[in-house]
Amino acid sequence: MLDIDDLDVRYGHIQALKGVSLTVNEGEIVTLLGANGAGKTTLMRTISGLLRPHSGDVRLRGRSIARMGADAIVRLGVSQVPEGRRVFPTLTVAENLALGGYTRPASEAQASMRDVLRMFPRLEERSAQLAGTLSGGEQQMLAIGRALMARPKLLLLDEPSLGLAPIIVRDIFRTLRDIREQGMTVLLVEQNARMALRLADRGYVLETGRIALEGTAQELMASPEVHATYLGKNAA
Ligand code: ATP
Repeated sequence: MLDIDDLDVRYGHIQALKGVSLTVNEGEIVTLLGANGAGKTTLMRTISGLLRPHSGDVRLRGRSIARMGADAIVRLGVSQVPEGRRVFPTLTVAENLALGGYTRPASEAQASMRDVLRMFPRLEERSAQLAGTLSGGEQQMLAIGRALMARPKLLLLDEPSLGLAPIIVRDIFRTLRDIREQGMTVLLVEQNARMALRLADRGYVLETGRIALEGTAQELMASPEVHATYLGKNAA
């Protein structure tokens, strides 16, 4: 589904990604682990067309998308749930969702809205409420729901559990399982490595812009480096 090949991304002189290659197969959940500043968000933003790579390629089902605009990439079936949720605080829940469906004809967007509200009953109860007045967990659900409105084939999730209480994090991960069961492919950036590896099929570890480790979720869970840095008592 997604093939990233020898990707270099720079901010001026700062080289944020150096020769990154990774693959996400159809129907998989792949997680990307890494410390703060490793380049995870940069990678997500490059896939979704918000950043242009200096060199290397991003292919979606074999087709290069590395130099396409963000709007064209959404239309090809890639939606991103950004870090920090970024809901529109002064719009209602329903209006935020409607914006997520802007690439689709009105009748299809309405059908998606029904599906999303069925998936998140709390959003249905609050559909007329301003998004800025929702709790953090509800805003995360709204950000996921907004991305689902475009009926993506590939969902990019950047730190969905950040700053949320454990009970809410469990809800979010349950939702991600449902999303996988619906046949979507997911690339998940997550600081909660334990939960991410329990959910994912495979994973990659990014360290200062390079892939340092990759493997099945089980292999990564058993890796002493992953254990020490991301799963142990002193892990991030
Ligand atoms: P975090 O978990 O803290 O979000 P991350 O792994 O997502 O970290 P990135 O945000 O991708 O990391 O940042 C990768 C590197 O690029 C860092 O060294 C960061 O300082 C740098 N960087 C990110 N955005 C910019 C920018 N707009 N201008 C200059 N440098 C940037």
